[in-house]
Amino acid sequence: MAYEVTATRKRPQIFDNLVGQEFVVSTIKHAIEQGRIAHAYLFSGPRGVGKTSSARILARALNCEQGPSANPCGVCSNCREITQGNNVDVIEIDGASNTSVNDIRQIKDEVLFPPQASKYKIYIIDEVHMLSTSAFNALLKTIEEPPAYIIFIFATTELQKVPATIRSRCQQFHFQLIDIDLIKSCLLEAAAEMEVQADEDALFWIAKESTGSMRDAYTLFDQVVSFSQGHITMEKISSKLGLVGIDQIVAIVSHLLENKTSQALHAVQDLLSAGVSVEQCIKDFTQFFRSLLFIKAGVVEDAILGIQSDRIPLSLRNAYTTEQLEAALELFLKLYRDIRYSLNPRFELELAVSRLASLTHIASPTALVRKIAQLREELLSGSVKLPVRKLEVQPELIATQAFVEPKIKAEASSSVVAISSAVPTTPPPGKKEATARDFKEQDLPLLVSKLSSAPLLSQVAQAITGVHTEGESLTLTFST
Ligand SMILES: [Zn+2]
Repeated sequence: MAYEVTATRKRPQIFDNLVGQEFVVSTIKHAIEQGRIAHAYLFSGPRGVGKTSSARILARALNCEQGPSANPCGVCSNCREITQGNNVDVIEIDGASNTSVNDIRQIKDEVLFPPQASKYKIYIIDEVHMLSTSAFNALLKTIEEPPAYIIFIFATTELQKVPATIRSRCQQFHFQLIDIDLIKSCLLEAAAEMEVQADEDALFWIAKESTGSMRDAYTLFDQVVSFSQGHITMEKISSKLGLVGIDQIVAIVSHLLENKTSQALHAVQDLLSAGVSVEQCIKDFTQFFRSLLFIKAGVVEDAILGIQSDRIPLSLRNAYTTEQLEAALELFLKLYRDIRYSLNPRFELELAVSRLASLTHIASPTALVRKIAQLREELLSGSVKLPVRKLEVQPELIATQAFVEPKIKAEASSSVVAISSAVPTTPPPGKKEATARDFKEQDLPLLVSKLSSAPLLSQVAQAITGVHTEGESLTLTFST
C-alpha cells in the first residue's frame, strides 16, 4: 500500500471520530436525526481542527444511500466516492482560487440541474472569505432561494471577512482549537498504529508545537517519525530540529541565579555552536518564562503551561517574583521583535542573557510604591528607630550670604541641628568673607527665600526658632 500521510490516514470519516468538537458534532447529529436539514452551513474556526473533514462527513451523512443518517454507513458507493473526493453530486471548491464572480455564476447555472445519483447536490466551499464582494452578492441570491436539493457548506478561518448577509443565512458552527492532551493521545494512537515507540515528553512537545491544530500535529509527527528510526525521543527532536531543550534552559537560568554569568554565556555559545538558531533560542526562553509566570500564578495544567512542569526544579520556580518574570518575558518578546533590525542577532541574545543575571534585582513601580508605603507606616507607628544621620546638604541650595562655604555638613539629632563649616574659607576675589559664624537669626527669612527651589529644606528652615554660633559651629533650634 502506498504511503499515506498521517493527517490523511487519520482523517475522521464519521462524526464520532472528530476530536475536540463535541458541541458541533452533537448539534449536527441531533439535527440530522430530527430531519432538520439547513440549506447553508458555515463552519468557522482555526485551521486544521476539522472543518473540511466535518463538511465531508456531513455530505456523506446527507447522501449516504442509507441516509440521511447521523452515522453514514461508509460502504455504499456514495459514501466511498465522497471519501475519495470523486462523487458527482458533492462539489468541492477552493474559495481561494475561485474568487471571481464568474466562478460563482457558473455555480448559479449548475444548481439548476438536480443531483444525479443522490438526494442532495452539495457544494463545499473552503476558505469562503476569499470570495470577492461581487461573488458574494451573486452567491447571496442562490442561498436565499435555493432549489430544495441544494446544500452549501462553507468553511472559513476568517469569519469576520464573511459578509453578514451571507452569515445570517447560514447555520453557523464554530470550531475550537483542540486541547493539547487530546492531540497527544491521538499522536500516541497514531504511533502505536505505525508500531513506532514514542516518549511521552516528545509527543507532548509535538502536541504543544501544533498549537491546537490536529493537522499540524500529524504533519510534524510524520516529520519526526522520518528521522527517529522507530523511537521518537526529545533528544532526537532537539538535535534534528535545532531546539533548546528545557533542561538546557534550566541549566542556563540556574547559572544566572548562582551569579555564574560566564557559565551561562558559555552554555549559550554551546547551543548556537550546536546549530540552534538565535530565533529558536529566543522562542524557547520566551516559552520558559511564560511557563514560570503561569506557575507563579497558580496554573498547574501542563497543557496550559505548554511545558512539563515537573522538569523545572522547585528552587527555580520560587526564584523570581511575578514582576521579575513579567520583565523577563517582556525582554524576550521585545528581543524577538528587535532582532530583525539588529546588526548581529547573536549579540542581542547574549546581551539579554547577561541582563537576566540581574533579574532578581528588578522591582516594579508597584512593588516600590508598596515598599515605600510600608516604610512610611513603620516610621509613623514608631516601630523603627532612626539612628543619628549625617546629612550631605547640596551647597548651591544653601549658599546664601552667610553660607558661602561650599560644603557644609549638618548633623541631625532630635530637634537641634548643628552646622559647622569645614574650614575657614578663602573667598573668591571681590567677595565678602563670611562663614557660619556670621549667620544670625535675622538672616533666616533670606535663607528661607533662597531655599524656595528646595521645598523640603525650605520647610526645615522655617521651623528654625533659634540661632546660636560658637567658634566654627552654628547651632539651630527647631520647634517640634
Ligand atoms: Zn453510505
